[in-house]
Amino acid sequence: MNPSPSQRFTLSCPECGRAFDPLLPQTYCHDCNSPLLSHYPLERLKAELRREEISARPRGMWRWHELLPVEDPHNRVSLGEGDTPLLPLPTIAAALGASNLLLKDESLNPTGTFKSRGMAAAVSKALELGIREFVIPTAGNAGGALGLYAGRAGCAAHVFMPKDTPAPIQYEIRMSGADVHLVDGLINDAARLAAAESRAHGWFDVSTFKEPYRVEGKKIMGYELAEALGWRLPDVIIYPTGGGTGLVGMWKAFDEMQSLGWIDSARPRMVSVQAAGCAPVVRAFEEGAQRIQPWQNAATIAAGLRVPAVFADRLVLRCLYQSGGCAVSVSDEELTLAQHELARAEGILAAPEGAATLAALKILLKKGWCEYGESIVLFNTGTGLKYFQQDHVDH
Ligand SMILES: *Cc1c(COP(=O)(O)O)cnc(C)c1O
Ligand SMILES: [Zn+2]
Repeated sequence: MNPSPSQRFTLSCPECGRAFDPLLPQTYCHDCNSPLLSHYPLERLKAELRREEISARPRGMWRWHELLPVEDPHNRVSLGEGDTPLLPLPTIAAALGASNLLLKDESLNPTGTFKSRGMAAAVSKALELGIREFVIPTAGNAGGALGLYAGRAGCAAHVFMPKDTPAPIQYEIRMSGADVHLVDGLINDAARLAAAESRAHGWFDVSTFKEPYRVEGKKIMGYELAEALGWRLPDVIIYPTGGGTGLVGMWKAFDEMQSLGWIDSARPRMVSVQAAGCAPVVRAFEEGAQRIQPWQNAATIAAGLRVPAVFADRLVLRCLYQSGGCAVSVSDEELTLAQHELARAEGILAAPEGAATLAALKILLKKGWCEYGESIVLFNTGTGLKYFQQDHVDH
């Protein structure tokens, strides 16, 4: 299909192939219960767009705007998201004997996590489509990002989150002026309430993968990584997985970049890291399954990983299988030790989710799944500041 000038991309269901009109607000494919994915005119862009041109633009996620869904720059809601540093970990690498270890530090994003990338894309596109009121179920950080981005756009946000969400994240969301609903349960319980409110009031639901564009913002992590490495991808990417947008987004970005002629067909092995107390992706991967069953009694201090049901389950598992990757779970104790190590040895105050990737790396090196000379990239998805509870301060 050739997009008309007013339609810069097409939207379709990856399961049944049905097309959805991107000029209208869209959610997901209700026939397949699947997320929708955006497709850009990559053949045309290959001829028109040079990667050097993008590298020369002012910093930030929006320098990749040809590969993002927002048409009119006036609709962009930006707080400076993107272009986070890719840092060496010299002390930890030397201790492990890993010669080529890097960490992409997403904690430098505006709301302290990579969630700001997705929310910048989703809120901007929603504005373009005339939407002014949002609702989200969240484990915490997506609610913070929605509250602040919607606030900046002068829109209303309704946030449903577990009542034991870390206190700093609750403060962030209240401070943004969002309407906060604490839920006696987890993100999937919050999702049921949010969906009902969405139907009752016509609020737009920006749940993970239930609207098409958060993943588009997050995929830009993959573009930035390739650019920073001289348009070559690492051997291994280790990513903490809740709903899976980070993994699925980067995997999509790699295919787009290959179609654009910017990278070759080599791909990293993608590793999904989860907490032992909530590891539905790991369990499904180990069973060789195509679908992910919900996890019962999910519990972990890594709030962003406390996601018992994975809506984009088929896409997440395909990324792991196709890349020759794997899925690993780490205990809260292991990820806390890794969090201390990153702070002390490297000066990186990682979120527990991000620190989990270092704990996973140690397991994979010990198992021989990763080799010491391979190029390995960890993702720290957020700042540790958003997880401090009073008892941390007292100790
Ligand atoms: C949301 C979140 C994750 C999980 O990301 P998904 O894209 O949902 O898999 C990881 N780390 C942090 C800090 C998060 O907020
Ligand atoms: Zn479908």
